[in-house]
Amino acid sequence: MNWRTKADCRHQDPDLFFPLGNTTSGLPLLQTEEAKAVCRACPVIAECLDWALRAGAVEGIWGGTTQGERHLMQLHARHDAGRAREALCDASLFVTPFVATWSSS
Ligand code: SF4
Repeated sequence: MNWRTKADCRHQDPDLFFPLGNTTSGLPLLQTEEAKAVCRACPVIAECLDWALRAGAVEGIWGGTTQGERHLMQLHARHDAGRAREALCDASLFVTPFVATWSSS
């Protein structure tokens, strides 16, 4: 079964999840918070957020996040992936001489 069939937003006005204007103040902020409240109670919030992150630049509130928040999450994930790659490279520099010494004895 598709996760969308369990979405709580199916019973809401779709416009609630697409606030117009600056979502950091005024009525758009209130609308954003109202939409996020629906998401927080939604049984498929994880699946929805995963879809939105994989879909790329999609507008609106998905998985309890705004487009800007998802963009930041993706930037952090790339930064963490970069740090993980650096750590692996550092580890291989450390391990390689040890393996070479061990295998030659
Ligand atoms: S998390 Fe929010 S946008 Fe996603 S399906 Fe649930 S209610 Fe809809």
